[in-house]
Amino acid sequence: MRYRLALLLTALPGLAAAQRQRPAARGAASITIADVQRRIAIIADDSMLGRATPSPQLDAVAAYVAGEFQRFGLKPGGDSGTYFQHYPLEVLRFDPESSTIRITGRTPGMWRGGQDVLLVEGQPLAGAAAGPAVVITGSADAGGTLDSAGVAGKIVFLAYGPGLNAIAAKVLPLRPLAIVLVAGFPDSIWARLPGHEVSVSVRNPSAEGGPGVPAVFAVRTATAGALFAQGGVSVDSLRAWGDRPLAARSLTGVTLQLDVRSRMQHASAPNTIGILEGSDAALKKEYVLVTAHMDHIGTPSAGEGCTPRGADSICNGADDDGSGTVAVIELAQAFASASERPKRSLVFMTVSGEERGLWGSGYFADHPTVALADVIADLNIDMVGRNAKDTVAVIGREHSNLGGTLDSVAAAHRELNIKPVGDLWPQEGLFFRSDHYNFAKKGVPILFFTTGLHPDYHQVSDSPDKIDAEKEARFARLVFYLGLAVANTAQRPRWNPDSYKRIVGGGN
Ligand SMILES: [Zn+2]
Repeated sequence: MRYRLALLLTALPGLAAAQRQRPAARGAASITIADVQRRIAIIADDSMLGRATPSPQLDAVAAYVAGEFQRFGLKPGGDSGTYFQHYPLEVLRFDPESSTIRITGRTPGMWRGGQDVLLVEGQPLAGAAAGPAVVITGSADAGGTLDSAGVAGKIVFLAYGPGLNAIAAKVLPLRPLAIVLVAGFPDSIWARLPGHEVSVSVRNPSAEGGPGVPAVFAVRTATAGALFAQGGVSVDSLRAWGDRPLAARSLTGVTLQLDVRSRMQHASAPNTIGILEGSDAALKKEYVLVTAHMDHIGTPSAGEGCTPRGADSICNGADDDGSGTVAVIELAQAFASASERPKRSLVFMTVSGEERGLWGSGYFADHPTVALADVIADLNIDMVGRNAKDTVAVIGREHSNLGGTLDSVAAAHRELNIKPVGDLWPQEGLFFRSDHYNFAKKGVPILFFTTGLHPDYHQVSDSPDKIDAEKEARFARLVFYLGLAVANTAQRPRWNPDSYKRIVGGGN
């Protein structure tokens, strides 16, 4: 492989140019199909349990990346002379056995967690909270409006069944205190719902708080029926799906007190950072950042949306973003083994918490271990092992002259047969959905590489056998040549001024 690539390069026009490229070719040739396959198999193995943030398996992958960085001779770029930057997290464990919903009204009562009521998802308030109860009747298709006064701060009952999502989409923006799904399941299905056991929710105290999903509980139809009768509402009115307009009906005189018991533990999650110092005395103080996220959504108990299929309950995340993590490792190796170092320094970073809300990159952007003003570009790689053999989508290419640099690099390396194309999924808002966004917001020009979405996205079937390692190796070589061009360029990459105004704000 290596030999053949060297031949291709010397066949390019211009002997001098070819000779200059030779040391680079040695770096590119260190990126091999076998390496990509081997590393994907390690990172996305079932034993890694889908690398949820935080988890011991995520820590194991972070340590694996750090070990490779060290082997390649990279300098530690994390905290206190290590390859790791840890950011703090709070892990809340909700205990159904001691959690209750108390009913005050004409007939006071109590629902016990894990028996009468299940906490099925969402971010319940730690501790107690009380609110009046309302029942949403009717169908989202039949017109009618819900106003904030009828829903905000209230405990909202919805029927579980067809049309639920459309109704929830109208209810959630109005900020209910909690949602209770009234479910007419037989007991055999009830027993399989989440919420019977301790559930875990992870918070990032350093991330900007957004409106999370409120606590979502489930109760049986009979249990809800007894409560509704007190408030003068028939439980059957919930089932009038198709014909009546949407309405919020108060359960008069009924207040519910949620007492959700939880234990909070302090935890942390890692970013792994290695630095290859540049060769130019002045320019080595500037950096090209190469990033990917090493976390994924774990198993169903991680609460990140992994759904079991048959006997398989591990969301391996081979493509998302095992593929990007492998690309960053391979790129670190390529730059470290090229016989000439680029002028500027390179920072290789694999982050975590991406799936929970771009947490690791957000923490680095707020607590950078090299000055962000000296980071001239971020090349971010997320999901690059699937789909068409000969293309990669490059998101954000219109925002700076990095897009033009990429086009010339791709044109000079047609042997790689990877064509950079624009955003193939504009409706998906991909620019906001991976780690580069945290750097773009702070003024760092970025390119985001992805081979895009597929039916295995966030499924247990995103497994190592589906990765096209041959394509990924060619893609990684393209990013290697691009990184080299950017690290050696005389002028720092420049934002398109309109994009800068829109994404970063202010003037440029
Ligand atoms: Zn993902």
